[in-house]
Amino acid sequence: MATPAPKRRIVLLGATGSIGESTLRVIAAHRDRLELVGIAANGRYQRLAEIAREFNVKHVAVFDDNSFLAAKSADIFPRGTQLHGGVAGLTTIATLAEADTVLVAVVGTAGLKPALAAIAAKKTLALASKELLVLAGKFVMAAAREHGVRLLPVDSEHNAVFQCLEGHHASDVRRLVLTASGGAFRDWPLEKLSSVRVADALKHPNWSMGPKITVDSATLANKGLELIEAQWLFGLRAEQCQAVLHTQSIVHCLVEFRDGSMLAQLCPPSMTFPIQHALLYPDRAPCPTDDPLNLEKKFSLDFRPVEAARYPLLGLAQAAMAAGGVAPAVFNAANEVAVAEFIAGRLPFLAISRVVEQSLAGMKNFEPTTLDEVLQADAEARRLAHQNLFSPASFSR
Ligand code: NDP
Ligand code: MG
Repeated sequence: MATPAPKRRIVLLGATGSIGESTLRVIAAHRDRLELVGIAANGRYQRLAEIAREFNVKHVAVFDDNSFLAAKSADIFPRGTQLHGGVAGLTTIATLAEADTVLVAVVGTAGLKPALAAIAAKKTLALASKELLVLAGKFVMAAAREHGVRLLPVDSEHNAVFQCLEGHHASDVRRLVLTASGGAFRDWPLEKLSSVRVADALKHPNWSMGPKITVDSATLANKGLELIEAQWLFGLRAEQCQAVLHTQSIVHCLVEFRDGSMLAQLCPPSMTFPIQHALLYPDRAPCPTDDPLNLEKKFSLDFRPVEAARYPLLGLAQAAMAAGGVAPAVFNAANEVAVAEFIAGRLPFLAISRVVEQSLAGMKNFEPTTLDEVLQADAEARRLAHQNLFSPASFSR
C-alpha cells in the first residue's frame, strides 16, 4: 500500500479576512493533507482564538499593539498557545521551523517583511496579497530566485494563468488577458457615478470579498494591480498584460500563444478553487464547492473591451506599469490612502482616481536599487496622497 503524502503545514497571514476564511474552509475539507500551524491578523484576536481552538494552532500573531496586549490578557486562547505581536510576531510565525507553506492574505503591504522572511527561510509562498508584488516585485522575485522558492498565485486570475502556462514555454506567450467583472458600477450611467455611496461600492455583483478589494473592483484599480502582479509573476513586458470585461466571472484568464491559440481557465467565482489548487499543488482534489459549473443549464460567456472613461484608475495603473521604477508603488500607495478615505465617508468616489493621478504626477519616478528606496517612495506617496485629499481638484471631475 502506498504511504500517504506527508501533511503540508500551513501558516496563514490574514486568517480572519475573506481569503483567510475561505482558506480555513479548504483546510477543514482536507485535514488529512493540510495542517494549520500558525495564524495572524491585525486586531480581531477573538476570532483568532476561535480558529486556534478549532484547528489546534499553537502559534498566533496579532499585529496591532493594543489588540496584542488585549489578546494576552484575555485568557481566551487554548492552553499552550504562543502569542506573538507586531511585525516581528508575523515574521516569527512566517518562519516557523514546522511550516512548509506561508499563505499571505493580509490586506495592504504589512505582509511584505514577513513574506520576504518566509522566502529567506525557504518556505513555499502562496500569495493572495497582490500589493506585495506591486510594491516590491523586483525584490520579492529576486529573493524567490535566490532561495529557490516557489511562488504559488492565489489570486484567481493569476492562479488561472499559472494553470494555463503549465507545460508551455514562457517565450511562446504572446499576451495574457485577465478578466474583470466590471464591479458594482459596470452598468450605471456615467453621470450617476458622482452620487455613488460607500454601500453601493461595497455591493459586488459576483464575488464576496473584503471592503478594500471590493472598492478596487468597482474602479478597476484591482485589475490594474493584478496586471502589475502578473507582469512580475510571469516575467512579461507591460504591453503583454491586458484586461477584458467579462461580466460572469467564470473565465478567469485567457493566455494567447504566438500561434494565435488561446487557453482559458474556467470555474465558478469562488476563491476556494484557486486556494485549494495552490495549497494542494500539484495534486488535484474534488471540487471545493457544491455548485460546480453546470453545462446542463444554459449559460453564456461574454467579453467586451474595458471602457476607459468609466475606469480611469485602470489607465493610470497601466501607465504606472509601463513607466516601471517606483510608479506602481506610488499608484498602490495613493490608491490605498484614497480608498480608505472613501470607505470612511470622507472622499467622493470620483475623487479616488484624481488623488492617485495627482500623486503620480507629483512624484519623480526612478529605478529603485534597494527595498528601502521603495519603502521610502511608498511613504512619500502616502504623504502626498494625504495632501492631495484636501486639494480642491480632488472634489470635482
Ligand atoms: P479582508 O479585509 O477581508 O481581510 C484582511 C485580513 O488582513 C484580515 O485578516 C486582517 O486582520 C488582516 N490584516 C490587515 N492588516 C494586517 C496587519 N497589519 N497585520 C496582520 N494582518 C493584517 O481582505 P481580503 O481577504 O479580501 O484580502 C486580503 C488580500 O488578498 C488583499 O491583498 C487582497 O487584494 C487579496 N485578494 C483577495 C481576494 C478576495 O476574494 N477577497 C481575491 C484575490 C486577492 P483583522 O481581521 O484583524 O483586521
Ligand atoms: Mg483577482
